[in-house]
Amino acid sequence: MAHFVADPEPSDYWVPKISTLAIPSKNGKAKINVWHPGAAAVTLRVLSGHPRFRFFPNDRGKPHKSGLRRFVVEGLITGDQIAVFDGIGNQITAWLRISAVAIDKGTGAVPSSHNSRIKPHVTIDPFGLNSGNYPLDGSKFVAKVDAAFGRVIANPIGSLIVNALSGNVIILFSEKNNIGSHVDENPKTGDKTIQITYDDFIGSNKPGDLLDETIIHEFAHHVDGWFSDYDDIGDGLGFHKQDFFSITATNVYASIYRRPLRKDWVTGVSPMPQKYLGSAGEVKFCHAHRGNFGKVRTAIGAPLFNSIELADAPWNPFD
Ligand SMILES: [Zn+2]
Repeated sequence: MAHFVADPEPSDYWVPKISTLAIPSKNGKAKINVWHPGAAAVTLRVLSGHPRFRFFPNDRGKPHKSGLRRFVVEGLITGDQIAVFDGIGNQITAWLRISAVAIDKGTGAVPSSHNSRIKPHVTIDPFGLNSGNYPLDGSKFVAKVDAAFGRVIANPIGSLIVNALSGNVIILFSEKNNIGSHVDENPKTGDKTIQITYDDFIGSNKPGDLLDETIIHEFAHHVDGWFSDYDDIGDGLGFHKQDFFSITATNVYASIYRRPLRKDWVTGVSPMPQKYLGSAGEVKFCHAHRGNFGKVRTAIGAPLFNSIELADAPWNPFD
């Protein structure tokens, strides 16, 4: 049987010694050593399978010393359990409990997740703020995301979309910049995640770029089940197959707050062309995208579609 070894490793690292593991790293990266003689590939798994857990790919079970492998990982939290598996999926170490992680930059304490005061099934999780790369601390992240989420819920469209989603939703910080915000679902737990990057967190006044607009946008992706067969119709707007409902619903939402409308996915957060603005533009958009609205109705279900259609908003092409 293989076993976990402390870092730095003792001279007799082939002797099993540890039954829990504390991760003292202030930047959240952990070196996890495993005694496992032999050349066969091994993988490290986390019992919770939380999506914030990640490997640094080049360090995946790299031989470190004779018989000793090293993983470099990020995303473990106190209470997680880890074990190592061989190439055909057999567990080759006992589960090891993570007893403490020192990461939260603001407080130096382990950050705890925080249930939204408004919707307890929505958790705001500051864990990803461990990298040392961003001038944020966990409590500021929670406070700002919770305030933005409050703005989402106070809006009739925001409230309809959030309430349409069943199960737990975890809003967490993601270091993965360049991907934009991102939605995911944990296949084990069914928990839905919304990953907020640093750029999303800061946001801007551009159309669709406030933090609350990013949050409602990502909720909309969950609500239409990541539907990815919307059409570009040659009107100059590009939705990348999957962003018609997310952007259009967010536009209805934004119009209630007298915010500018976002054009599409392809051009990022640029303004909606004049031809689709105002009540004449709203009707024109509705007619031009008749096919896409039909797909939305199927993806989100007629009751929610009808509720959005009936919502009173300055710009609402749902019909
Ligand atoms: Zn999107």
